[in-house]
Amino acid sequence: MKKIVVLMLLAAIVCMPCAAFAQASQTSEFERFLAEHNLTIPQVFADESGAEDFYYWVMDILREDPYHIFAFGHYDYQIFSEQIQQAYLDENNISSVFNINASVDQRDLLKYNSFYADGSPNYNCYSYAIDYTSQWLIIGTLSGQRWDPKTATFESSVNMLRDDLEVLGNDCISINYDLPQANDIYNGYNVIALRLSPIGESSTDFHFMKLDYSFGDVWRHKPGKTCILTYNDSPTNDRIWSSEGVAKIGNDYYYTSSSLYYDSKIAYITYAETHMYSISYTGNNYHGRGTDQNKHFYEYTKTCNSCGYSYTYWRAELCKGPCPLQRVVEYV
Ligand SMILES: [Zn+2]
Ligand SMILES: [Zn+2]
Repeated sequence: MKKIVVLMLLAAIVCMPCAAFAQASQTSEFERFLAEHNLTIPQVFADESGAEDFYYWVMDILREDPYHIFAFGHYDYQIFSEQIQQAYLDENNISSVFNINASVDQRDLLKYNSFYADGSPNYNCYSYAIDYTSQWLIIGTLSGQRWDPKTATFESSVNMLRDDLEVLGNDCISINYDLPQANDIYNGYNVIALRLSPIGESSTDFHFMKLDYSFGDVWRHKPGKTCILTYNDSPTNDRIWSSEGVAKIGNDYYYTSSSLYYDSKIAYITYAETHMYSISYTGNNYHGRGTDQNKHFYEYTKTCNSCGYSYTYWRAELCKGPCPLQRVVEYV
C-alpha cells in the first residue's frame, strides 16, 4: 500500500513539469512559426490565444490537404490562413504552384450548391450580396465601423449592416427573421441574408446570400474568393450553411470544403433606395378659414409597403361646396 502511494506521488511529481513543458512547447511552436515566417497576428484576433486556435485549425487542414482553398467572409481570416499556408508549404518544401495542366473540373462535387458563375477573388460574399464588387467588404466597412468578432453580437452586426446600406443611399431597409418569398418582393428591391459562424473558440466569421427573385426563390452566394454558387435549398434557420466552394485557378475548377460552418439565426434584409408607398385617406378633414376659405383639407397616410415607414400629411383641395363643414366653421 505504501509503495503504491509513493509511486503515485512520484508520478505526480514527474508529470507536473512534463505537463507544463508540453503546454509551453505548444505555445512556442505557434510563436516559433510566426517569428520564423515573419507573420503578424491580424487585427481580427484580440489576443494571441484566438489566433493560436485559428492556427491549429488551419494546420490540421493543411496536413490533410496542403493545397486547401480557404474561403472566409472576413478578410483577415482569409489572409492569415493563406500566409500560414504559404509558410507551411515553404517549411515542408512543397511547391506552392498548383498543377494547372491537369485540366481539373470539380464543379460537380458540390453537395449543397450548384455552380452559377465565375467570380473574381478580389471580392467576397458581402460584396457580391450587395453588388459592391470593387472591393472585399467586412460588415461596417462602408459606414466606417470596425466589426469586431469578439464584441459583435448578432444584433450589433445587423445594425452595422443597416448603417452600411444607409451610407449607400438606401432609405428603405427592413430587417426580418422569417424567410421572404420571391413573390412578396417588390420589383427593384434587394434581399440579402446574413449569418454568423463560430470558428474555433474565439473567432467568428460571417456569410451572406442574396435572393435572385427573377428566378423565383433562388438564393446565390460567393464564399470568400471562390466562384458564385446557387444554394440548393432555402436559407432557413434549421439548416446549417456548410462551407463549400469552387475556386477557379487558371481554367480549372477546384472543389473545396472545410469544417467551417454558419449556424446563427438568419437575418433577412430587404432594401431599396426609395420607399414603396401606398396612400390612404385617414378620414380626417376640415374646411379652411381666412385666406383658405375656399379650400378643403384632407389628411392622408403614406405607408411604405416594404419597410412599414409611414407619415401623415394634409392636402388642400378646392372646395366646390356646398360644404357642411364650411357652414360649421362659419357658425363657430
Ligand atoms: Zn420603405
Ligand atoms: Zn369644404
